[in-house]
Amino acid sequence: MGKQALELGGNTFQFFTRNPRGGKAKEIDKEDTDRLIILMKNNNFAEILAHAPYTLNPCSADEKTREFAFQTMSDDLRRMEYLPNNMYNFHPGSHVGQGVEKGIELISQLLNDVLWEDMSTTVLLETMAGKGSEIGCKFEQLGEIINRVELKNKIGICIDTCHVFDAGYDIKNNLESVLEEFDRIIGIERLKAMHLNDSKNPLGSHKDRHEKIGEGCIGIEAFKNIVTHPVLKNLPCFLETPNELSGYKKEIELLKSF
Ligand code: FE
Ligand code: FE
Ligand code: ZN
Repeated sequence: MGKQALELGGNTFQFFTRNPRGGKAKEIDKEDTDRLIILMKNNNFAEILAHAPYTLNPCSADEKTREFAFQTMSDDLRRMEYLPNNMYNFHPGSHVGQGVEKGIELISQLLNDVLWEDMSTTVLLETMAGKGSEIGCKFEQLGEIINRVELKNKIGICIDTCHVFDAGYDIKNNLESVLEEFDRIIGIERLKAMHLNDSKNPLGSHKDRHEKIGEGCIGIEAFKNIVTHPVLKNLPCFLETPNELSGYKKEIELLKSF
């Protein structure tokens, strides 16, 4: 995947740690990861980002589902150490009627169970659109989860532009004030990565439907402001737009041209 990122003009990539719908992961081939480490070094890569499966729900009401989240995340984080000093992103989860407070408690509990002192990976909570009972659509919720985690220095945030816009944060017209709010509630130093996606739906619609860069409700001007913003411009960015490889290549070119 490192080679493919290079071919598309990128210097980082996001990957699923296993089938995004869940299931067992292949054991890691150390020669393979060592080759990737060298490729990354030789080509000035930023940190790469692993994404946990979508089925992982740390704040499910069902104990088996929570146990799956614990087993999966523990195993993923163990395997991430083959690629030291990178990042692991997950969706905080859906509280499915148990309430936001209970959800926050379960998510922070999981993090306290899976993180360890000497790990080299930074674990990122992704900002969510607020579809259904999703936690993480308000900066206050993410800030409260971090408050309750003991090893706070292992934790960061990944802003998904489609999700925050869907959650009601107007990064199109008020990027500056959204970042100020983020800083006040979470602390801007926790922001470690961005998912760059346009949104098929208007501000605050809680739908989570990604669109190609510049073809949705966020629009190209906003992306220009985002990737050139002094606080954001050095963050690793990842595309999750509905695209073919050639489309990604064009988007990377366009974003880099700014
Ligand atoms: Fe995600
Ligand atoms: Fe995302
Ligand atoms: Zn999404």
